[in-house]
Amino acid sequence: MVGKTVLYIEDNPDNMTLVKRVLESRGYFLLQATNGLSGVAFAEEQDVDLVLLDINLPDIDGYEVAHRLRHSSKHALAYIPIIAITANALKGDAEKALAAGCDVYMSKPINIRELWARVEAFLPSSEEKSQQNEV
Ligand code: MN
Repeated sequence: MVGKTVLYIEDNPDNMTLVKRVLESRGYFLLQATNGLSGVAFAEEQDVDLVLLDINLPDIDGYEVAHRLRHSSKHALAYIPIIAITANALKGDAEKALAAGCDVYMSKPINIRELWARVEAFLPSSEEKSQQNEV
């Protein structure tokens, strides 16, 4: 079974390592981008099923990344799930992320159970999918 591909756009290596471990343990494949522009390029060039998006990035910020994905000439990106990961829980940031085109947001520090729940809500893991198929 080929795992679902998640693109994580994140400049913090500790978060990247954590998310990679957590998602790969559930059978997802993680593509890694460490800045906004390479993240947009990855999403346009690769077969990606979901985007995890840090907001504070070294080049363009996550809001701009979400905007570019939603307006990309690759039409699938208009509908791809985007989960924003915001550094601070200020209400304005979350609203800004949603306004930019993100579907949901999580705040840092990353909670592993919340991450699984958020990702699986959009992309059921292979185990869950096979269980659903048996019903
Ligand atoms: Mn960051």
